[in-house]
Amino acid sequence: MKIKILVSIIIQLFLSSLLFSQGKISDEWLTYFEKSNYLETPRYKETIDYFRKFEKLSPYAKLISFGKSPEGRDLFVLVVSKDKCFTPQTAKKSGKVVLLIQNGIHSGEIEGKDASMILLRDILVTKEKSHYLDNVILMVIPVFNVDGHERFNPFNRINQNGPKEMGWRVNALNLNLNRDFMKTDAPEMRAWLKLFNAWQPDMFVDCHATNGADYQYTMTYAIEKDKNVHPVLGNWVKNSFIPFFEKEVEKDGFLIAPYVWFRGDEIRKGIVDGATGPRLSNGYTAIQNKIALLLETHMLKDYKSRVFATYSALYAVIQKLNAESQNVKEIVRKAEEESVKEFVHEKKSIPLRYQISNESVPFIFKGIKYRKEPSEISGKEKIVYTDEKFELEVPLFNKVIVTDSVVAPFAYLIPSHLKEVIEILKLHGIKLHRLNKKTKFKVEKYKFDEDVTWQRRPYESRISVSAKYNSFNDEVVVPGGTYIAYSNQRAVRVLVNLLEPKAPDSFLFWGFFNSMFERKEYFEDYVMEKYASEMIENDQSLKTSFFEKVNSDSVFANDPYKRLEYFYRLSPYFDQSWNVYPIMRLNEKIELKTLKEESYF
Ligand SMILES: [Zn+2]
Repeated sequence: MKIKILVSIIIQLFLSSLLFSQGKISDEWLTYFEKSNYLETPRYKETIDYFRKFEKLSPYAKLISFGKSPEGRDLFVLVVSKDKCFTPQTAKKSGKVVLLIQNGIHSGEIEGKDASMILLRDILVTKEKSHYLDNVILMVIPVFNVDGHERFNPFNRINQNGPKEMGWRVNALNLNLNRDFMKTDAPEMRAWLKLFNAWQPDMFVDCHATNGADYQYTMTYAIEKDKNVHPVLGNWVKNSFIPFFEKEVEKDGFLIAPYVWFRGDEIRKGIVDGATGPRLSNGYTAIQNKIALLLETHMLKDYKSRVFATYSALYAVIQKLNAESQNVKEIVRKAEEESVKEFVHEKKSIPLRYQISNESVPFIFKGIKYRKEPSEISGKEKIVYTDEKFELEVPLFNKVIVTDSVVAPFAYLIPSHLKEVIEILKLHGIKLHRLNKKTKFKVEKYKFDEDVTWQRRPYESRISVSAKYNSFNDEVVVPGGTYIAYSNQRAVRVLVNLLEPKAPDSFLFWGFFNSMFERKEYFEDYVMEKYASEMIENDQSLKTSFFEKVNSDSVFANDPYKRLEYFYRLSPYFDQSWNVYPIMRLNEKIELKTLKEESYF
């Protein structure tokens, strides 16, 4: 009980210290959130107006539109730099660490926006925290999902405790931007990739509010540290960043824990903390060799606490980066360099799929007690949370194992007609070359099994595929103009995750190659009858093998179509490219004559 009172006094002191500091703030610089007694969040226009004022006031801030939403709204990022490095080139030259903070990818979860406004004011207006930007270039996206943000309503998040009204989870095309990082169907995502790949921020923070069980933590987080990032980066995250980050946020009075993802149906079975797939923001920025942090405030905490917990988390990130600017730059550079060395030159396999191992470490979970009661509504038991807190040691499963991986080829050959694939590769920062003339190659190709499974319903607008394949070697002559993607490049993990069909977010999985599985020519029975008879007549061994199959396989023997098709498939009329993946692996290292490099960045 005493501890409880002490904690609440500390929280009160912290909040009142914030209020006190706001005592010095002129009305003009109070945020909409503060003026609403911490209950409301501003609309897009008010938000952008406030961000514009930073640009007007400070020579160190520049508001840049990096694209348009489907409904025509500008996507803005505020760049804050004491050296006025407002372009990717000048930022790179400065040698300072670049931090990208993203708010409102799920625009109903908008605390990051209100926290960012106060934090930026403390840096640019009151200058209380201005010195934390001595070694950091800060980029803040006020709202990423701008169209969703303007679907403003009190009824958008049934589980969430404020703000009074808020935006909607997905964009105007009903796409969840936080599943779009690889396939990039949304115009917002294509714009984002251009921004990200041009600037190459060293660290990325994505602000959310979570759904799920009730517990004591105001802030939970996930940070990529195992297998989908290089150990050089993962070790810094584990040993240096996390201890500092957790301590700082707790110091401000907010309980913090790794993202609470139950291993089973209840907490006693433990929680898991693994590697995120690249369709999500943190999984994507991880395979781009960056430090990737996901913030998830707890939906049931009041909006004010959620905003200030986010403020506290963002502030901790900035402090850490400012203190270790050169070190962090070096870690990110090394993670990049080592990844290329290991995956390209030493041919180590690149992880594609992950699982959590059975190893665990003890973790003290701070929960809220509940009881189970029969429910008249569901007809089953319901969970009723009480006000009572509890602490329980549970296993935290945080060791990632790789369940599937691939060795990168020397290069991929990509037919030039695959325009959408080529465009998306470039958006991802992949450098491409083109053959200057027709060339003969020994390649590895993939041929898919015929039993392909499609999802019954669209997922994120796509009919995704699961299909197995075998690889085979072939000799091909490809035309001049064919694209070559060498593995020897910075974004090699992204390259293989897009082009290797078995990767969970590959082009193939997302249905970019669905037409490849369609057969387009068929035989007429009476034509095939005649042709098959001729084939048998001219080939005794074919005749033998056919009748052997008829005698040994009753299903085949009783299927007239299959019997005819047996010959069709052996005839030159059968489409040899059916079910064959058009992108080829060039495994042998060779010197190629190519045209100028093509890349966006
Ligand atoms: Zn979210």
